[in-house]
Amino acid sequence: MHHGRPFSQQLFTKMLSNNPEFKTLLLLHSRDRREKSLAKELANLPGILNGLERKIAVEKESIAIATQELKGMETLNNSLETEITSIGEQVARQKNKQLEVKKNEEYQALENEIASLLTTQSEKEDEQIAVLLQIDDARETARIAEEKISLRVVDLEKQRSELLEREKELKQDLQAIAVEISASRGEVETPMLEVYDRTKKILTNPPYVAPIEDQKCSGCNLRVSNDVISSVLVEQKITQCDQCGRIVYVER
Ligand SMILES: [Zn+2]
Repeated sequence: MHHGRPFSQQLFTKMLSNNPEFKTLLLLHSRDRREKSLAKELANLPGILNGLERKIAVEKESIAIATQELKGMETLNNSLETEITSIGEQVARQKNKQLEVKKNEEYQALENEIASLLTTQSEKEDEQIAVLLQIDDARETARIAEEKISLRVVDLEKQRSELLEREKELKQDLQAIAVEISASRGEVETPMLEVYDRTKKILTNPPYVAPIEDQKCSGCNLRVSNDVISSVLVEQKITQCDQCGRIVYVER
């Protein structure tokens, strides 16, 4: 007998929260719950990390899209520049030919060709000016977009590194709680531990142990029978809620 108490008295206080033996079960229960919630958080991390990775990729892609328009216009500007230069060269060639021709109609034909080339060149130059103005706008737009997106990427990458840090913490905490649970299990009396383990297996979610309040099991919020109350308070046995199967006790 513990501390010289008669057997019946030891049983009498069994399912009360202030009973030292029952307290060992409550401690084990709280450690099990903590382990469960740590494990759940750890299991959710890869999904959250994947979501962040996808967001980062989308943001980086949108930087590429913002600069793509600018690059397209720069390419257009370059090809206009080449065309304008080439027309200038054609004009110079036709002017040289003009120096060599003897007939007036040949000279006039070249003159017409030159005039037509110069008109085209002038149109291309106007087009180029418009493109250059658009390039200035696009460059500014791309710069602003890149700045904003970069800030978002920095923020997302910060979130990612915090999550990776949390992952490390969770793994350490899980190792520590496993040690605590093992110590706790050594403290709980075997019959109580057996009922507890069976209860845990049957119920998918904690709590596995719940106080009775106003004759209601606080685990399922349903009214327990008088037999359950009597089992806890009079018969002093390990008792389970007749509705949900949780181990029930009384706060004292
Ligand atoms: Zn219940």
